[in-house]
Amino acid sequence: MTGVAHITGDDGIVDVTVVGAGVIGIATAYAAARRGMSVRVIDRAAGPAMGASFANGAQLSYAYTESMASPSLWSKLPTIALGRDRALSMRWSLDPDFLRWGIAFLRNATPARFRTNTLAVLELAAESRGAMDALLRQHNIDFQHSAPGKMHLYRDPTALEDAAAMVAVKREYGVEQSVLSPRQAVALEPALAGATGLAGVVHSPAEEVGDPLRFCVALLETMQADYGVMTCFNFELASASPANDGFILTSRDGRRLRSRKLVSCAGVDAVALSRRNGLRLPLMPVKGYSFTAAPGALAPEVSITDTDRKLVFCRLGDKLRVAGLAEVGNHSSAVDPQRAERLVAMARESLPDAATYDAIDSTWAGLRPMTPSSVPIIRRVRPNVAVNVGHGMLGWTLAMGSGERAMDALLVK
Ligand SMILES: Cc1cc2nc3c(=O)[nH]c(=O)nc-3n(C[C@H](O)[C@H](O)[C@H](O)COP(=O)(O)OP(=O)(O)OC[C@H]3O[C@@H](n4cnc5c(N)ncnc54)[C@H](O)[C@@H]3O)c2cc1C
Repeated sequence: MTGVAHITGDDGIVDVTVVGAGVIGIATAYAAARRGMSVRVIDRAAGPAMGASFANGAQLSYAYTESMASPSLWSKLPTIALGRDRALSMRWSLDPDFLRWGIAFLRNATPARFRTNTLAVLELAAESRGAMDALLRQHNIDFQHSAPGKMHLYRDPTALEDAAAMVAVKREYGVEQSVLSPRQAVALEPALAGATGLAGVVHSPAEEVGDPLRFCVALLETMQADYGVMTCFNFELASASPANDGFILTSRDGRRLRSRKLVSCAGVDAVALSRRNGLRLPLMPVKGYSFTAAPGALAPEVSITDTDRKLVFCRLGDKLRVAGLAEVGNHSSAVDPQRAERLVAMARESLPDAATYDAIDSTWAGLRPMTPSSVPIIRRVRPNVAVNVGHGMLGWTLAMGSGERAMDALLVK
């Protein structure tokens, strides 16, 4: 279906407008364009991937889809509530949305719901891997993509046992994962020689990485060149009013665009946008940080997640990207220097020689749009309108499959 350049009619109306040019919006635009629709992507930012997708952990974590609300949360709750967990913290609020979300989150932390949610995301991850493979067979997209595999490090034997139980469940779904002893893990990834107190490691050999910013920029260019996809940046959508043949989209500064259909991929801001249109979305920002630096003397080749510290390390081109920290309910994406330093300190404790910690290239913070179940919300909400939001910790991983699902939902008769 490549090579078909879509143009808008004289009246400027397009078949579908995608609100938000993060990984979810860009993947959704591709799903629409490859179906032959005329597409416009709008964003209030000056370019693609300026929100949560900018410098995330870069993991395409197709096998490790464990939901954030897990049964192990209960034993950690007092520490988290008192602000003593360095990786996971709460920005407490009496706001009804925060309380509603918190209660729903805790209700998902049962063994049965954890399993259901993890498997629901696993299914979407498999679709996403398939959709990504199909895209890359069709188009040459340069985004520092590689498949180094991934190791999850466990120091607590009980946590390792729980993880091993999920490995057994996921094997039934064809997922390639195994539990390794520390010695087996170091044999595969010598950088783990620097990690202390390991009980064991979950190895997912087919896991991938890629730079989400490069991906969004490159795929958007491809869509513009091969599919005639249009963009309108610096357009902050304020309202979408029904019109005879679709919607009139009005920006905060009064500009107007026309579209037959709409998909909201507005990340954490989808809450405010949807509320104006009478829809309540259960999304909470979970703020995280990343930094990018040159690799150190003992930098891992395999992506590493330190499950105690909730940190991820990966090679991205000739750099090392480290991401982590989860602050539930923080609505500001500004970098707090103390938190950024905490991330560096925790990374240094975890793998002391993985990066050149004293010469960091860049630090970043972003807001993960999180649902209480960790399962994204992808559905038609009214005729000709769909939402594709709430991808939390795994938006980059789930983007391609989510785009396909959103389009299927939007086009259902
Ligand atoms: C520290 C960190 C590490 C992470 N690591 C990983 C990882 O390793 N692997 C993984 O799979 N995921 C990871 N994630 C999660 C992933 O980054 C997110 O789930 C994903 O980026 C969400 O994408 P999105 O497109 O929904 O949101 P965004 O990227 O935030 O895009 C939403 C867009 O909507 C635009 N917008 C909002 N409101 C309006 C409006 N009114 N008008 C116009 N435009 C609007 C915004 O400007 C923004 O560009 C990480 C996240 C963080 C913060």
